[in-house]
Amino acid sequence: MNLHVAQELLGQSAPLHAAPVTIARGDGIGPEIMDAALRVLDAAGARLAIEEIAIGEQVYLGGVSSGIAPESWDSLRRTKTFFKAPVTTPQGGGFKSLNVTIRKGLGLFANVRPCRAYAPFVATKHPAMDLVIVRENEEDLYAGIEHRQTDEVYQCLKLISRPGTERIVRYAFEYARASGRGKVTCLTKDNIMKLTDGLFHRVFDEIGAEYPEITREHMIIDIGAARLADQPHRFDVVVTPNLYGDIVSDIAAEVAGSVGLAGSANIGAHGAMFEAIHGSAPDIAGQGIANPSGLILAGVQMLQHLGQADAAERVHNAWLKAIEDGVHTADIADAAVTKERVGTEGFADAVIARL
Ligand code: NAD
Repeated sequence: MNLHVAQELLGQSAPLHAAPVTIARGDGIGPEIMDAALRVLDAAGARLAIEEIAIGEQVYLGGVSSGIAPESWDSLRRTKTFFKAPVTTPQGGGFKSLNVTIRKGLGLFANVRPCRAYAPFVATKHPAMDLVIVRENEEDLYAGIEHRQTDEVYQCLKLISRPGTERIVRYAFEYARASGRGKVTCLTKDNIMKLTDGLFHRVFDEIGAEYPEITREHMIIDIGAARLADQPHRFDVVVTPNLYGDIVSDIAAEVAGSVGLAGSANIGAHGAMFEAIHGSAPDIAGQGIANPSGLILAGVQMLQHLGQADAAERVHNAWLKAIEDGVHTADIADAAVTKERVGTEGFADAVIARL
């Protein structure tokens, strides 16, 4: 069994020593939701030895085009685990995406995003939805092979490799096996991109054959995305190249009714990064009303990855109980189900009270 997947999902080892973790409070609502999430993890008995680094706007505007100072990499390489609040990317040219830089720097090849409905407590049109998107995170059109041919023609090359595809497809099947999920759906456009997407589909069939207990399904990305938006309950685990994964994971999060509720894990051979899926929400920053749930649930994924399944389960159950008890932040408040409307701190208090 793939050890990364096994460790994340089953938390087989439960070390008593504190796990080294690098955190960054980020920009906008980042500091507020990070404080709330850390309070919850701490109260649940998470054993974390925290190092803090600065990332984002202040670092970009201080003249570092990647948004992360060289010395901060020392902490990330030492701890190998990054718990990250969202950052604001300054407008204008010359600034590189911090996320792409960190994914490449730490070799984070898999982006794992669970998307599920919390009906009837959070409004959604798809109450039975419960799926996990496994997105390839380093190749495809994100490989950085982009250049100018002439002033009127620019070119970006799509890179799909057999080793990169085998790794992500195997990760998806191991994830399905370890989490008791029965189907993996592959999304590509191999009717048009016969070599690149054709290789991805072929590797999916080859590796999938090693998992006879798991149903294997392939869809062309366009109809796959349409079905994901309309019938998300038909999906279980989805594996797909980088760009399609970027798009369908936002569709899935949105139709679950919960941009403020989803966390994600970026997993690699030499490190892992955990964050909420949303951005820094500058429109509500500093008001104490942001929903810290996405980062709290990313924290649950991090505790599972660190082998602290006991604390992960405590946080997850207490979080679910708070949502089910109708303790809601403004973004998910609904007259039919909300019993108590709270801010960021109040929500963290409600989760802690249910641990
Ligand atoms: P956003 O996700 O920050 O906000 C979109 C909308 O959702 C806003 O109305 C916001 O108020 C709301 N929202 C987001 N998170 C919320 C929460 N936890 N609770 C309540 N409401 C919430 O997207 P945007 O406005 O397009 O981007 C703002 C900034 O964030 C940009 O600079 C962008 O580059 C950055 N960004 C960062 C990350 C990251 O660091 N991983 C991801 C996406 C966007």
